[in-house]
Amino acid sequence: MKVDLHSHSTFSDGMLGPEVLVERAVQRGVDMLALTDHDETGGLVAAREAAAAWGIRLIDGVEISVQWEAVTLHIVGLCIDPAHLPLHEGLAAIRSGREHRAQRIAASLAEAGIPGSLEGARRYAKNPELVSRAHFARYLVEAGHARDTNAVFRGYLTPGKPGYVPHQWAELAEALRWISGSGGVAVLAHPGRYPLNQQQCERLLEEFIGLGGTAVEVVTGSHAPDEFVTWARYARRFGLLASAGSDFHGPGEGYRDIGNVPVLPAGCTPVWTAF
Ligand code: AMP
Ligand code: MN
Ligand code: MN
Ligand code: MN
Repeated sequence: MKVDLHSHSTFSDGMLGPEVLVERAVQRGVDMLALTDHDETGGLVAAREAAAAWGIRLIDGVEISVQWEAVTLHIVGLCIDPAHLPLHEGLAAIRSGREHRAQRIAASLAEAGIPGSLEGARRYAKNPELVSRAHFARYLVEAGHARDTNAVFRGYLTPGKPGYVPHQWAELAEALRWISGSGGVAVLAHPGRYPLNQQQCERLLEEFIGLGGTAVEVVTGSHAPDEFVTWARYARRFGLLASAGSDFHGPGEGYRDIGNVPVLPAGCTPVWTAF
């Protein structure tokens, strides 16, 4: 069975609409797909219909932006109920905070000599409530400031670089309450990507588990293969289920296409055993 439990559509910063995304997953042999848009579940209706028509399993998902101490974390919720009111309202509140943040990102870029980025980013954002740094990155490539979006994030939009602004996202406890309260499974997304040392990672995992988190992404487009092994070990040690997903955003962007998800290392208990 081919599984991909992390992907994005135009409802957040993906480049394909939910129907086209599902069709691409089908063509690439995916049997079980989760759509996990940032702070948004609006694409799930169309994705579910498309998945039903193609005969694959669609997992209702979301990727929630969280501020934990000095670090922004992403928590993926799988098998969530998008109609669960606290989740629905919580996500709406996060999205409304993105507008002011986008203005501040644009002001920071303007100060660095790059005008017009808000309008530029908005042209890439199909969902006006969800302008993400990925949209700014696409505009910065278009305007000739970097070769591709990966290169953008080396010079811009990250801590200490032009276009970075700190932002108060949801709290970890809130995000986990919304996910668990809606019947979902909470997954710590791409843990290898956070600027945390081993001791801080352990503290995060303990807190995450204490708040009801049950899974960690072991295989993701954000991890190098040696990190699959590292995080498989953390998963076993902490009794966490293991998730796997491409984090696909669009053709030619990022490291893995949809469905290009290596099998979990031996010894992992797959998160889908809990679905
Ligand atoms: P935001 O939620 O607005 O902070 O935007 C986060 C999104 O920007 C991520 O989901 C990715 O799509 C993209 N992104 C962030 N950091 C990087 C990076 N280092 N390389 C490539 N894309 C990134
Ligand atoms: Mn993204
Ligand atoms: Mn993420
Ligand atoms: Mn993602």
